[in-house]
Amino acid sequence: YSAKDTKTGVAVYDPAMQVEDGSRLLLLGDLRRALDSTDQLTLHYQPKIRLNDGQVSGAEALVRWQHPTRGAIPPAEFIPVAETTGLISRLTLYVLRAALGQVRTWLDDGLTLPVAVNVSPRCLLDAGLVGHVVALLREFDVPASLLRLEVTESAVMANPATATATLTELHELGVRLSIDDYGTGYSSMAYLKRLPVDELKVDRTFVLHMDADHDDAVLVRGAIELGHNLGMTVVAEGVEGIAHVAALQALGCDIAQGYHYARPMPAADLSRWISDQRPATVPVG
Ligand code: C2E
Ligand code: MG
Ligand code: MG
Ligand code: MG
Repeated sequence: YSAKDTKTGVAVYDPAMQVEDGSRLLLLGDLRRALDSTDQLTLHYQPKIRLNDGQVSGAEALVRWQHPTRGAIPPAEFIPVAETTGLISRLTLYVLRAALGQVRTWLDDGLTLPVAVNVSPRCLLDAGLVGHVVALLREFDVPASLLRLEVTESAVMANPATATATLTELHELGVRLSIDDYGTGYSSMAYLKRLPVDELKVDRTFVLHMDADHDDAVLVRGAIELGHNLGMTVVAEGVEGIAHVAALQALGCDIAQGYHYARPMPAADLSRWISDQRPATVPVG
């Protein structure tokens, strides 16, 4: 949406801009209403699979918006717009509340499943984030270790001091932390080493072509080695085929997530999916 000439920094008139701004404002208004309604925003969950034994190690919560007239709007379309305003904080709280409520429901059903929530760069700088997390964990009586927050490197590098302080506070509460989309942002090894992060998620764009593109394969291998050297668990995103699984196992990757195993799905479907994965412990009859 930038209307600035990148060379001169001078604003230039772009006839498409008014239309763009108009639709952007409409989207923000609709999203505000969606946050007040009870049925437009839901969470889907995608399982994360341990590569050594095939067990489910947790799930990532991904927001879904069913717009009353436009139908499903993908997060890639509305998250970046929400991030330009304070609305992203409300959305993040909405997602945290829904995810922790679901963790509680699963616990009551006898299923202990750690859940990961994506946290936007802006929220990481939000002074209220830690307090909200504490309050929600208490409200749902969920152990902090069952909550994982995913942040990108760029989010940390945008304001390293504040981001590091926030992440350290969350870590001290027992919340787990992941670096999401690793390899796509600005990297600083110095910060990566200093952050209390225990998981590195290699971006799916590298994983997707690792079987065909030598450079991508080298990057994936490098990310796995770096993560392990820093004492982190390494997750591969976007695992779409059995060839990926074999290659990642050979490289010593710890966890995989992707369509090869399951697409993100409603909570009820995930608990059914998990019990279908488990061999029956009680013989039938
Ligand atoms: P992400 O956090 O990196 O999430 C992974 C994305 O990859 C999800 O897209 C997921 O559906 C997709 N994916 C999973 N496995 C595969 C695969 O095998 N192949 C392919 N091609 N894609 C796969 P989704 O749900 O559309 O979300 C896109 C992005 O939007 C997320 O990327 C995240 O950055 C953001 N997002 C989603 N939900 C939330 C949320 O609740 N809060 C915030 N702040 N951001 C969110
Ligand atoms: Mg994520
Ligand atoms: Mg990711
Ligand atoms: Mg991604």
